[in-house]
Amino acid sequence: MQKIIVAIDGFASTGKSSLAKRLAETLNYTYIDSGSMYRAVTYFALQEGHQGHIDKEKLLAKLDQIEIYFKYSKSGYQTFLNGLNISKEIRLSEVTEKVSKVSKIIEVRELLVTQQQKLGAKKGIIMDGRDIGTVVFPKAECKFFLKASPEIRAKRRQLEQIKAGNNESFASVLSNLKERDLMDSTRKFSPLTKADDAIEIDVSEMSLEEVYHQLLEHISKKII
Ligand code: C5P
Repeated sequence: MQKIIVAIDGFASTGKSSLAKRLAETLNYTYIDSGSMYRAVTYFALQEGHQGHIDKEKLLAKLDQIEIYFKYSKSGYQTFLNGLNISKEIRLSEVTEKVSKVSKIIEVRELLVTQQQKLGAKKGIIMDGRDIGTVVFPKAECKFFLKASPEIRAKRRQLEQIKAGNNESFASVLSNLKERDLMDSTRKFSPLTKADDAIEIDVSEMSLEEVYHQLLEHISKKII
């Protein structure tokens, strides 16, 4: 069966990662969460900076010291930064609050986009993010763009956070989401935008199960 590239872009907390992960398992494809790479660089920058501040110049000077890789184990998809498993740390609110500031730095994007393109060189990959269908794999055979109302996304994010043991108020989750939406959609380089040939789906009123089946149906048409 022909292996293709599937790009799933869209707003934060539309279920992109869960869907991409499940679809990759079904199709026996590699799953890559590109957001975790931007989060890993943000975590690195926070470690290097002072009291929660990102020092851009310092980050740029050390960019070549950053090595990010992934492992798949029984405990799920794990993100490693310079040999350390930082899967939990990159979900902390300190990282979530700063990630859009780091992801708008052109040097960071160039570095990560190159790595993402290498990961997809052999196809058979499902990658989720913000610019996968527009910049990383503009020739991807199958592209999706997911959206939903900010309130529904914030509710979903808050539940995920509670499950992970992080208690954050709905108001704070909602305000972070809106702030990230704005920064991600208005940044100068590779802003969050739908590729012309992407299938747009509003998942506000849909269950993850429904979205999963809809995406799988579209993908199946491309690989037969
Ligand atoms: O997908 P997730 O919400 O974890 O992404 C975190 C942040 O990483 C986004 O808000 C965005 O700033 C950045 N990002 C990006 N390009 C991607 C994936 C994520 O700029 N392809």
